[in-house]
Amino acid sequence: MRGLDDRLDRTLLSVVVPLYNEEETLPELEERLVALVDRVGFEDCEVVLVSDGSTDRTEPLIRELVERDGRFCGVFLTRNFGHQAAVSVGLEQVRGSVVVVLDGDLQDPPEEVPRLIAALEAGADVAYGVRRGRKEGWWRRVCYGLFYRVLEKVAAIEIPLDAGDFCCMRRVVVEAMRRMPERNRFVRGLRAWVGFRQVGVEYERAARYAGRPKYTVGRLLGLAYDGLFSFTRLPVRLIQFVGFVLSCVALVVAVGYVVWYWVSPERFPAGFASLIVSIWFLAGVQLLCLGVVGEYVIRTYEESRGRPVALVREVVRGSRGVGKGLGAGGVSERVGGG
Ligand code: UDP
Ligand code: MG
Repeated sequence: MRGLDDRLDRTLLSVVVPLYNEEETLPELEERLVALVDRVGFEDCEVVLVSDGSTDRTEPLIRELVERDGRFCGVFLTRNFGHQAAVSVGLEQVRGSVVVVLDGDLQDPPEEVPRLIAALEAGADVAYGVRRGRKEGWWRRVCYGLFYRVLEKVAAIEIPLDAGDFCCMRRVVVEAMRRMPERNRFVRGLRAWVGFRQVGVEYERAARYAGRPKYTVGRLLGLAYDGLFSFTRLPVRLIQFVGFVLSCVALVVAVGYVVWYWVSPERFPAGFASLIVSIWFLAGVQLLCLGVVGEYVIRTYEESRGRPVALVREVVRGSRGVGKGLGAGGVSERVGGG
């Protein structure tokens, strides 16, 4: 059971929408977002439209929209920094007690947001959309499916399958995500990393309302790289493992040759044996050394990312007040009030 403090705070709903050259979608987006904020039952709402260096009429349209409706606000980036950067900037700007992130191409239907909010109401801290169907080409679907399944297998944390950035979060979660100063931001991974009570809510992913996807194959690969390299040590561990296996094989083969030489020296492949064994052994040792260097590199990388070691949601103390030291500073960070 959750306590009373965990009741959903309905003071301010913030919606973050990244936009890159979405002039064709913007009018429809406005209409559906207004319909959403009118019916969710929050005291106040703000919609943060982040233009990620749009070069079409997106920014002038946002200006007009902000004039018309004070609940909207525009954040214009100096150039195109990418979807994940735009979402991160949006999350930095919001002040809401509940924060929604959705794509500006209407693939994440605003009409689904009340269901996400209902999940928060039921006790979750994060409700993320899980895509039931995809309206993309078959090869994109295959690639996405493959990527999420690989990531799930290799990531050090549990990153949910088929979940994108479409989500609804309580403010504490957003605050926790802001505490991570890393540059390569794989937002859905960071959201999983911070923990809290997370639930997936299935939804039908719509087709793009208008325009073309802004993610090219290269950019999608970049996103996949960010996801893989920010959340797993697997590549380095793989090098170490292969190096170890190669060295072992070389040693076994060496022993085999020694036995062979001993049993029937007349048919022993002189010269060849020592050559093969040394090639395999040296290759193995080199990979092992590379793995050791990689281990230092990855540790440096992890330190430089500056993530807190752990996040503390709550400290429960008895009257003796043991553990008063927990608070500001140190390796863990407190999130939320109280
Ligand atoms: N987007 C962005 N910056 C970019 C690429 C995309 O802000 O560099 C926005 C885009 O306008 C859209 C959302 O991010 O609102 C998702 O982009 P897209 O539809 O191209 O991605 P996909 O649906 O293919 O994952
Ligand atoms: Mg899209």
